[in-house]
Amino acid sequence: MVLDIVEFDEEALRQETEEVEIPPSGEVKLLAAQMLATMDAADGLGLAAPQVNRSERLFVVNLWGKYHVFINPVIERFSKDVGTEEEACLSLPGVFAKVRRPKMVWITYYDAAGKLYESRKFKRRDARVIQHEMDHLDGKLIVDYVSDFEFGE
Ligand code: ZN
Repeated sequence: MVLDIVEFDEEALRQETEEVEIPPSGEVKLLAAQMLATMDAADGLGLAAPQVNRSERLFVVNLWGKYHVFINPVIERFSKDVGTEEEACLSLPGVFAKVRRPKMVWITYYDAAGKLYESRKFKRRDARVIQHEMDHLDGKLIVDYVSDFEFGE
């Protein structure tokens, strides 16, 4: 099932998210599977729970054709090396923002099966996609990196 992606909906996109119980329940596994299908149908590289108006600390990404589910992700470490690239967001169609981010991150997270990954390293585009989705879990959007952007219309 493909879910509805919220667009320019500040209430949904800024909602607080909550840690998921480990091992993930059937409901959480189903949500992850539906989010993967939704991301795929929208041709996106990532999708976070608030974008489908859910409050779980969970996001999915497509890294070079491989699907990954991140549950309760924590950034353990950033590289000092940063880069600036233009980003888009499925929840903000037509908006592009230049965002400065560390080029490498080390993340601890669980997958949909409840397997723990400790301080797993991601770099370059993968690190950028993951940081973008991590931001969603904290209600942060790419427009927040642009000083003169007005949210909404
Ligand atoms: Zn986004």
